[in-house]
Amino acid sequence: MLNLIIFGPPGAGKGTQSEKLLSKYQLQHISTGDLLRAERNAGTELGNQANEFIAKGELVPDAVVIGMVKNFMIAHPEAKGFIFDGFPRTTPQADALDVMLQEFQTSISIVLGLEVNEDELVKRLLLRGQSSGRADDQDESTIRNRFQEYQNKTLPLQGYYQAQGKYHGVMGIGEVEVIFSALCAHIDAL
Ligand code: ADP
Repeated sequence: MLNLIIFGPPGAGKGTQSEKLLSKYQLQHISTGDLLRAERNAGTELGNQANEFIAKGELVPDAVVIGMVKNFMIAHPEAKGFIFDGFPRTTPQADALDVMLQEFQTSISIVLGLEVNEDELVKRLLLRGQSSGRADDQDESTIRNRFQEYQNKTLPLQGYYQAQGKYHGVMGIGEVEVIFSALCAHIDAL
């Protein structure tokens, strides 16, 4: 199996690159952001609870997202591999992911980090907010809070995967196709 994590701050382009990677490598896409928004749109209890955190730019509790990822993986036993997009975002999530993959007798193959500076990210998110209608992309203080959460809780995972020799950073500014090629080069070198 090819299991990859697409890593990076909000607005780095994880969703865009994931779409391209999953069609090239025939992978299943797990975006916890998309799964949470689908729950909210369906008006489920879980979706309503999660939305309170999302609206403030805070992370949703670990148990909620870990359970969602587990259900998704169990529902796709035929998968040739997974792209984890927006997950894991905390150390407990990373530990839980390792355990889930062990149950599938597999592990993380590679972690690809999209590196983009904060000013560029704010510009991109505000622009995305205009077209997507995502409330968490429309308010600069919510966006800044998401960066704070990223710095405090998610960025430490870069070191976690670096220590395992799995992390590869790619410059996330420039042409989508050029960034995609750089990501593919790291995968193809495995
Ligand atoms: P972005 O990466 O652009 O912020 P996402 O769609 O990945 O957008 O996530 C939107 C929001 O959903 C996050 O700000 C957070 O509140 C919540 N969320 C998504 N994934 C997770 C996760 N793995 N753990 C906790 N909260 C999450």
